[in-house]
Amino acid sequence: MSEQFDVIIVGGGPAGLAAGLYASRMNLRAVLVEQGPPGGQLLNTELIEDYPGFESILGSDLAVKMAEHARTFGLDIREFEPVRDIDVDGDHQKIVTLESGSELRAPAVILAAGGVPRKLQVPGELEFAGRGVSYCAVCDGAFFRGQELAVVGGGDAALEEGDFLTRYASKVTIVHRRDHFRAQPVLQARARANPKIEFLLNAQVTEIYGDETVTGLRYVKDGVERDLPVGGVFIFIGFLPNSQLLRPHVEHEAAGYLVTDRNMQTSIPGIWAVGDVRAQLTKQIATAVGDGTTAAVAASQYVDHLRDQERGAA
Ligand code: NAP
Repeated sequence: MSEQFDVIIVGGGPAGLAAGLYASRMNLRAVLVEQGPPGGQLLNTELIEDYPGFESILGSDLAVKMAEHARTFGLDIREFEPVRDIDVDGDHQKIVTLESGSELRAPAVILAAGGVPRKLQVPGELEFAGRGVSYCAVCDGAFFRGQELAVVGGGDAALEEGDFLTRYASKVTIVHRRDHFRAQPVLQARARANPKIEFLLNAQVTEIYGDETVTGLRYVKDGVERDLPVGGVFIFIGFLPNSQLLRPHVEHEAAGYLVTDRNMQTSIPGIWAVGDVRAQLTKQIATAVGDGTTAAVAASQYVDHLRDQERGAA
């Protein structure tokens, strides 16, 4: 089965829902496919305090509001429809194939598929997610005022976010499995100069534990298992963007993030990348919404331009 649209949005987090809202309101035939319920990372976030206009809102409530808002403009949201791949057919046509086998076609595709933080895969990590285990310092740091925290990882994200967390925490211990960091020297120097940061090197985390919330982690160093009492564990051991859905080669960074122009278009005309799948400074709801908005407006112009061309040719 094949259906034709003006624009297909892949992914129903804030970036995709914003793109869908704008595309529908501009009277494009728009469809949004999402592998789960709409919301994306909002559904993994307990409380949101940094989205303008909402002093404090549950992630799940904001997800419902964003989806309902987009639907009021006629957005066709298809939940629990995982995408198998995205391909290009001829000069302009894009094909989104669903796991169900159905095919969606449109000249414009907005990829808003996000990504997932790499998991430590130790006992307690999943059980305490949202109750002391976090993958986002900007989102959750403020909930840990005055507490001692652990940051796991040794890359740019671990050192940068560890430094950021000292705005709130009384102490941050950066726990890294090796004795040197892969983070940029400037970030290492900044962390070393921060009196609130301590380093625990050659330490492999083996467990995160607690009662209602996290109370500590266990690690192995020099063959000996020890405890580190902390109120929260922030894990920054890499992020896996869902850019592999694209079959043709698209310009991307080494870690898989898609490179776009200022209108969010990728190196393939007619394919935009927005939100966490895109190479950018920050992964915030506000920036995701901005990305989606820009891409929808650019996609609308692209569709109009193709229509003008077709009319001219006819
Ligand atoms: P990353 O550079 O891939 O670093 C991941 C870190 O986690 C490494 O230190 C790695 O240890 C460690 N690690 C991986 N798996 C682990 C495991 N199972 N247990 C314990 N430790 C584990 O990831 P990232 O820091 O998230 O950065 C991702 C990309 O975004 C990078 O290209 C980075 O440059 C970029 N970024 C840039 C900035 C900036 O420019 N300000 C900020 C954030 C991110 P090993 O070193 O031992 O492998």
